[in-house]
Amino acid sequence: MPKDSLRALYVNELKDLYNAETQLVKALPKMAKGSSNAELRQGFEEHLRQTSEQVSRLEQIFEMLGEKPAGNKCVGMEGIVKQGAETLAEDYEGAVMDAAIIGAAQRVEHYEIAGYGTVKAFAELLGENEHVSLLEQTLEEEKQTDEKLTRLAEQINSQAGQGEQEETKPRSNRAA
Ligand code: FE
Ligand code: FE
Repeated sequence: MPKDSLRALYVNELKDLYNAETQLVKALPKMAKGSSNAELRQGFEEHLRQTSEQVSRLEQIFEMLGEKPAGNKCVGMEGIVKQGAETLAEDYEGAVMDAAIIGAAQRVEHYEIAGYGTVKAFAELLGENEHVSLLEQTLEEEKQTDEKLTRLAEQINSQAGQGEQEETKPRSNRAA
């Protein structure tokens, strides 16, 4: 009986992730479009391709389970995506907008890392070894994307900070 309920929980979490990934298929092109930095934009485009593969990995798992992937709305991801859309609507420019977008994107990746870590652990307990290897591939992609964003942030944040210094200097001169 406990194993049956863990299986039900597992399927439910997979449905949440499936819905989250399909939300991201729509959101990632907007994040790419809003980015000025070429490497950041290409990073979003590459992760969009990975995300489509992640959707099909989940579909393979549902197929093996004899379940339908649809039926859940991931309100957690919905909130994160909404907040990202608000960021994109702000009038930040250049490196400052890119820094803001990276912050939004890392929230997405961390949420996914938590979700995939959870389902992978459930799949291990349930002895679903094929699922484990599919989920592991996706989990690795999410982690690598997060790390890439951290690397890009080091460069972009400092560009955003330089702009700040250049702008505040003449202003304080004028004040004096
Ligand atoms: Fe994903
Ligand atoms: Fe992702």
